[in-house]
Amino acid sequence: MTDRRLNRTHRADLRSFVPVPADSHFPIQNLPFGVFRPRAGSSGRVGVAIGEHVLDLSVIEQAGLLSSAGLAGSSLFRQASLNPFMALGPSAWSSVRARVSELLREDEPTLRDAGVLRDRALLPLRGVELMLPAEIGDYTDFYSSRHHAFNVGSMFRGPDNALMPNWVHLPVAYHGRASSIVVSGTSVHRPKGQTMPEGASRPVYSPSRLVDYELEMGFFVGPGNELGSPIPVEGAANHIFGLVLVNDWSARDIQKWEYQPLGPFLSKNFATSISPWVVTLEALEPFRCAGPVQDPEPLDYLASPGEWSYDIKLEVWLETHGLEQPHRLSLGNFNDLYWNVRQQLAHHTISGCNVRPGDLMASGTISGAAKSSRGCLLELTWRGTEPIELSNGEQRKFLADGDTVIMTGWSEANGYRIGFGECRGKLLPAQL
Ligand code: MN
Repeated sequence: MTDRRLNRTHRADLRSFVPVPADSHFPIQNLPFGVFRPRAGSSGRVGVAIGEHVLDLSVIEQAGLLSSAGLAGSSLFRQASLNPFMALGPSAWSSVRARVSELLREDEPTLRDAGVLRDRALLPLRGVELMLPAEIGDYTDFYSSRHHAFNVGSMFRGPDNALMPNWVHLPVAYHGRASSIVVSGTSVHRPKGQTMPEGASRPVYSPSRLVDYELEMGFFVGPGNELGSPIPVEGAANHIFGLVLVNDWSARDIQKWEYQPLGPFLSKNFATSISPWVVTLEALEPFRCAGPVQDPEPLDYLASPGEWSYDIKLEVWLETHGLEQPHRLSLGNFNDLYWNVRQQLAHHTISGCNVRPGDLMASGTISGAAKSSRGCLLELTWRGTEPIELSNGEQRKFLADGDTVIMTGWSEANGYRIGFGECRGKLLPAQL
């Protein structure tokens, strides 16, 4: 049994004076952090999602209501990024969460009965513009799902050589591109690039024909480490602020031609979409669970006994011009990941590499054992050999122009959901 660190903010019987629909991803037990503009042209600030509203923390802070959380006189939330808050570490995150939870409770009059202040601080989510939650300095993409690595390896090298010899000993990753990370709702153009068509003797330059999504989750780094001083696996969770949904858009034909010997490059750097609300590890604490058994046993610096995965259900949906209702492509779970977030961060820094607040570390495509839980079209259609049939008779091997990919995820227990909202992106035609 895990020794879970639960506190008052996790109680299932907590209720907010802000209405929260029964199936909401954002009950008072969640309190995810994000960055938003109240209206077009206004400046970004930090907020917390509650039901169908956002609580503007810059207003709460300015009114002095966060002084009991040790933040008197600061202006931590009157800015368009979470980086300064992420840098403070778990005890500050926890005291702000506790204070926000208290202020939103149905039996707490401070904000509930504050009239004008309450109306300034609580804004309908529909009316605000959600932004990237952090200034992301560096982005790394892992490859931590064994089922995904096995499936893709089987396609290209056969099942006997599917997993490379290093895979079960270290969390494989590549350094990604932070500049092209976009927030959910941003459309993405089909990339152009160099590919080698089957049977051709020379490569061609054209729009990618095989655009795919990858279902992933990512964590934001909180306090970083000094160059040369690795983050030990035991304390790694103290450096992790929270999780978001990630769509690591991929151009499979570009990837196939370019990836050897150094790994993906242009096939991945044209866009990566993330969900706007960062769900803290503290909010996810009730859902901490065991990941897959690790055999062979990892080296000591990666040893992570105990339950360090999370039970998070994940869905991918497809919207097309011709479909009346979105089509569910897959249903999986974050706890299928072989390497956990502590191991990823410990491994990333074992060389002495420094990470910084706001860095994003994505999991790699999350696939489970069942076909219905495969996290990308490459696997679901087995390289296009088994097309997906949609209800209106359309087929998909890879994404078509105009398709929208929607990812969502949530943990559920005790009558409430800790949800991630959605990560949505539309694929537009290649630019001329
Ligand atoms: Mn990926």
